[in-house]
Amino acid sequence: MPRDTMFCYTCDADEPHRPLTALEKSWLKERTSRKNVEGFFMCKAPNCRNVRAGFNKRPFDPVIRVPLPD
Ligand SMILES: [Zn+2]
Repeated sequence: MPRDTMFCYTCDADEPHRPLTALEKSWLKERTSRKNVEGFFMCKAPNCRNVRAGFNKRPFDPVIRVPLPD
């Protein structure tokens, strides 16, 4: 399995993920009030963009999706 492939809770399948960008990290900090948002990944499947943690497939309930850039 490629290194960036992880299980996506919302896709219900193994999908490629990528780490959050600096901009997305600041967004997630505001969105969740978390101080530490390292180790989060975004699902790269089309129209998914669900956020998961490296060791937690469903860290947020309800799920959080990264908004599309403007
Ligand atoms: Zn997904």
